[in-house]
Amino acid sequence: AEDMEYRLRTGEVVDEATYPLVPHMRSEEARLQTFSSWPSTSPVTPQDLAQAGLFSQGQGDQVRCFCCGGILNGWEEGDTAWTEHSQHFPNCFFVLGHDVGNVPLQV
Ligand SMILES: [Zn+2]
Repeated sequence: AEDMEYRLRTGEVVDEATYPLVPHMRSEEARLQTFSSWPSTSPVTPQDLAQAGLFSQGQGDQVRCFCCGGILNGWEEGDTAWTEHSQHFPNCFFVLGHDVGNVPLQV
């Protein structure tokens, strides 16, 4: 995968209170529901993406993180949602395990 946008800048003091950037996507269930037109050929599943904080904006295989606002696309065989998210956006507070209000799916 490739990152399209880098909102959370490296090496800068950031105000944690401004995160998550997309508060209405804090819920994993809400994120999962955005994948209704997800390409079935994609090597990553909506479940994995939603769990990794990512949601679809309906544009191809492009997803965005509810917390850092980072955008990923171009998913390739062998990619996983978590590894790509953490490799491209290592300073994302959700990736770092901070409490950013994520609501996991009730199982
Ligand atoms: Zn993120």
